[in-house]
Amino acid sequence: MKANPNINIIEEEIVEIPSGFTILATGPLTTSALTEKIKEFTGEDMLYFYDAIAPIIEFDSINMDIAYFKSRYDKGEADYINCPMNQEQYDLWYNELIKAETAKIKDFELKVFEGCMPFEEMAKRGYQTLLYGPMKPVGLEKEGERRPYAVVQLRQDNLIKTMYNIVGFQTHLTFSEQKRLIRMIPGLENANIIRYGIMHRNTFVNAPSTINSFYQTKKRKDLFIAGQISGVEGYVESIASGLVAGVNMFKLIKGNELVSFPVETAIGSQAYYIANTSAKDFQPMNTNFGIFPELNFKHKKNQRKELYVKRALEKLEEFITGGSID
Ligand SMILES: Cc1cc2nc3c(=O)[nH]c(=O)nc-3n(C[C@H](O)[C@H](O)[C@H](O)COP(=O)(O)OP(=O)(O)OC[C@H]3O[C@@H](n4cnc5c(N)ncnc54)[C@H](O)[C@@H]3O)c2cc1C
Repeated sequence: MKANPNINIIEEEIVEIPSGFTILATGPLTTSALTEKIKEFTGEDMLYFYDAIAPIIEFDSINMDIAYFKSRYDKGEADYINCPMNQEQYDLWYNELIKAETAKIKDFELKVFEGCMPFEEMAKRGYQTLLYGPMKPVGLEKEGERRPYAVVQLRQDNLIKTMYNIVGFQTHLTFSEQKRLIRMIPGLENANIIRYGIMHRNTFVNAPSTINSFYQTKKRKDLFIAGQISGVEGYVESIASGLVAGVNMFKLIKGNELVSFPVETAIGSQAYYIANTSAKDFQPMNTNFGIFPELNFKHKKNQRKELYVKRALEKLEEFITGGSID
């Protein structure tokens, strides 16, 4: 970038949202002065929080011969998946959990421990703590069967039920320890972890109320927001959002019509998702097959992802050769 004569790099803190054509991409650790200005601009109270998130598991990788659907005392819809443990399994798992390795703690993360305790910390408080907390088994026994000693519950995470998060399992364990401990849970032996639990400060706008699927703000046509602060989650997702914002900023400057990447592609489904999902309790999202539009023809379940990929590549090819991003 430094070698490119068209790019002018100014290394200083921006404390106001600049006027004129601007793409804001200051990331999850956006400095506080600018965060305040963005808050004023969007009119939203909350722009960041210290984030401790629970892992998300792909539904197809859950062993439903062991796990089962049931809500506590059968209240409401049975949207929860339950992984039962007997005492022996719990003991073994608990003993591994309390000595599992956690990621290094940074100062700002200490705040999280007060409001949003990671499950491994809860476990360290005592053998019973999880059994009376997120792993409480009462009301979760299978019809006509004995109550399990402990239950790990998973809650539906997306509308089309392809992703489930582990209830109460916000965590600070290293990724390898998360994988090892999750796979010790009966029913999750082959769990595919779509998103690991992590803890970090995360600054992001409420995407569905603030930006459209071009990453352009609704309030100011010449202001775009891209990267993690736009409400996407992850390295690749941040880069993808920057591509869409960049292409469209160029179009805007040239006076051309803005373009949406096809919603069947990873880039397009992500842009569509963050601009159109519910603004209430909005949370950043990784790109994943769960936010792709479903296939509208009959297919075998185990071919679904391959078909998504094929369709995405075809749509992208059409999009590029059709001149949409020239
Ligand atoms: C601790 C942590 C770990 C993460 N780990 C992962 C991971 O393993 N995998 C993954 O996919 N994602 C991870 N993420 C999430 C996210 O994908 C990355 O943060 C990613 O770097 C976001 O890209 P970005 O371009 O939006 O922001 P950044 O890469 O953060 O770039 C923003 C830049 O803007 C600068 N900046 C901030 N405020 C101002 C200001 N006021 N004026 C001028 N410059 C400013 C910052 O210093 C930074 O250089 C992590 C996030 C955090 C905080």
